[in-house]
Amino acid sequence: MSGTPRETGTTAGPTFIRPRVPEAQWNDWRWHMRRRITNIEKARQWINVSPDEEKAIAGVAGRYRWSITPYYASLMDPDDPLCPVRQQAVPATGELVEFSGAEVDPVGDTFYRKTNRVVHKYPDRVIMLVTEACPVYCRHCTRKFHTTDVNGTYFRDDEGGSFDEDLRYIAEHPEIRDVLLTGGDPLSYQDGKLEEIISGLRAIPSVEIVRIGTRFPVLLPQRITDELCAMLSRYHPVWLNTHFNHPKEITEEATAAVDRLLRHGIPVGNQTVLLRGINDDVATMRTLMTELLRIRVRPYYLYHCDNVTGVSHFMTSVEKGWEIMEGLQGHITGFGVPQYVLTTKIGKIPIAQPYFTPTPDGLLLRNYRGQQMAVDGAVHPITESDAR
Ligand SMILES: *Cc1c(COP(=O)(O)O)cnc(C)c1O
Ligand code: SF4
Repeated sequence: MSGTPRETGTTAGPTFIRPRVPEAQWNDWRWHMRRRITNIEKARQWINVSPDEEKAIAGVAGRYRWSITPYYASLMDPDDPLCPVRQQAVPATGELVEFSGAEVDPVGDTFYRKTNRVVHKYPDRVIMLVTEACPVYCRHCTRKFHTTDVNGTYFRDDEGGSFDEDLRYIAEHPEIRDVLLTGGDPLSYQDGKLEEIISGLRAIPSVEIVRIGTRFPVLLPQRITDELCAMLSRYHPVWLNTHFNHPKEITEEATAAVDRLLRHGIPVGNQTVLLRGINDDVATMRTLMTELLRIRVRPYYLYHCDNVTGVSHFMTSVEKGWEIMEGLQGHITGFGVPQYVLTTKIGKIPIAQPYFTPTPDGLLLRNYRGQQMAVDGAVHPITESDAR
């Protein structure tokens, strides 16, 4: 794999040469973090910034931060503002449009927040918002007010503050057996700080599993070093979920990052957000899910896009989600089909359409091809008299 970005020329618009990056630097995640694209001049080294993007970049100033790793920028089509990678990373004017019903925190994380960082919504598990930093500020982030909004955050103090209170809460609630580190992106921390947090959790006997929610495998796979994986593997069982939204994101680097995690015994799952104009069609989703299986990532959730302030322009209809789920279920490997959920203040709600209808005698079933079959008795338990 060459260390330099993929495309160097363009066909339409002014031609430009993307920065040439020596391989050693390209493979160094810290280099990418330092060189993140955060202004229009830098963006112009990678893409022909469209008039709408230019307007949006000016418009979000002082409201929403943006930042793009050179790695993720290298996946963007330089000429097509509708490029699915580009739309996830470059500000759009849609972010500044007021949509009716939009809320800053529609999933109610702030409501269920018990300490600075712990959100306790379900009986046996919590999320811990360990940071507000991310390598790329995804334009569609559900916690946009926490990660991306320059004025809004969960944290009372700076993120370097003490974790004692958070860990104490978890220790004092032994019903919590599953702790999910999320944020922001927990892997934004250096390995040492991350290890402090995870070892703190491991010192609590009631914590059975540690989960990490991170988009680094997609936004900057170089972050997934052997050293990081080795450190994490000292605290097993550790599970990891990442966030691929489009087949374009499944690169050689991403594949290698996933492989390193798996070799260290860390199962990798994926949560996709259904996004208008990015992945809201059956063909794209089928490719995405089957390509994920090829790199041994297990599709977990397909999130319906919430009506989050600054994100609403990415929303699709639930009918669109159903169409996509119908295009996956039965058509591809069973475990390649994610669960379609709506995240609400009362939790994540599965919203895929059922494949059965109850009837007076049993069930009316349908399959992925639309064939129907009535079954009766299937709803009754088999008893000893049945067996005779
Ligand atoms: C999503 C979420 C979890 C984890 O839910 P799973 O369905 O187990 O993946 C836990 N707590 C909160 C607040 C969440 O939003
Ligand atoms: S990496 Fe995750 S938390 Fe960070 S901006 Fe993207 S979606 Fe939000």
